[in-house]
Amino acid sequence: MSFRELLSAISDIIFPPQCLACAEILDPQAKSVFCSSCLEKIRFINGSICPVCGIAFLNSPAESHICGNCLTARPYHTRARAVAGFETVIMDTIHKFKYGRNVVIGDKLGSFMAGFSFPDFDFAEYSLIIPVPLHIKKLRERRFNQSLLLARALGEKHKIPVNFSLLKRHKFTLTQTGFNRTEREKNIKGAFIITDKEKIADKNIILVDDVYTTGATVNECSKILKKGGAKNIAVLTLARVI
Ligand SMILES: [Zn+2]
Ligand SMILES: [Zn+2]
Repeated sequence: MSFRELLSAISDIIFPPQCLACAEILDPQAKSVFCSSCLEKIRFINGSICPVCGIAFLNSPAESHICGNCLTARPYHTRARAVAGFETVIMDTIHKFKYGRNVVIGDKLGSFMAGFSFPDFDFAEYSLIIPVPLHIKKLRERRFNQSLLLARALGEKHKIPVNFSLLKRHKFTLTQTGFNRTEREKNIKGAFIITDKEKIADKNIILVDDVYTTGATVNECSKILKKGGAKNIAVLTLARVI
């Protein structure tokens, strides 16, 4: 047992773990961050999907196939995967984490994400994890980068180094909320730069973000990384708009 695990075992006795969504006391043996009734409300994305952007074909008997969006405009990343739909329990918890500036929730969501088996995805193919960066102004306001917390949990579990300084957001952009796909793409264009091209050269990289909406942000990051010399980019997010 590592020191960190010991500390967490002691803290579980003093402060029994609670469901991240409804605060119900959890059975520590269950090793889950949500209670069973909240878990039931989560729509995990592990059925048929688009193998490129990862969109889920919910309530559809269709086999996995490339979606219309990817056929028209192939993204720069080779694959994107998300744990669950951005709705109900997951949406509320991400809001608590992000806007409530709750780092503890962030760590727990990170381990929840790291424990998920993403369909048709092999961590062994990747040698670097990069979180989608925040602009310094946003970082000061929020005090932490939510994507970095998730990236760290993934890196720790899958033994892949995380680097948060290779990709920088140097242009302050308007919030993407309320924008459609085209507006989002325009708004985010040219927002990122690479600080050290040598460190990404020929690497297979996992880009991590909290939510995948239209994919405009991660696609812009993937574009910059590919142009900077990276080999393949995969995108992992905790949630995805479905
Ligand atoms: Zn619950
Ligand atoms: Zn697609």
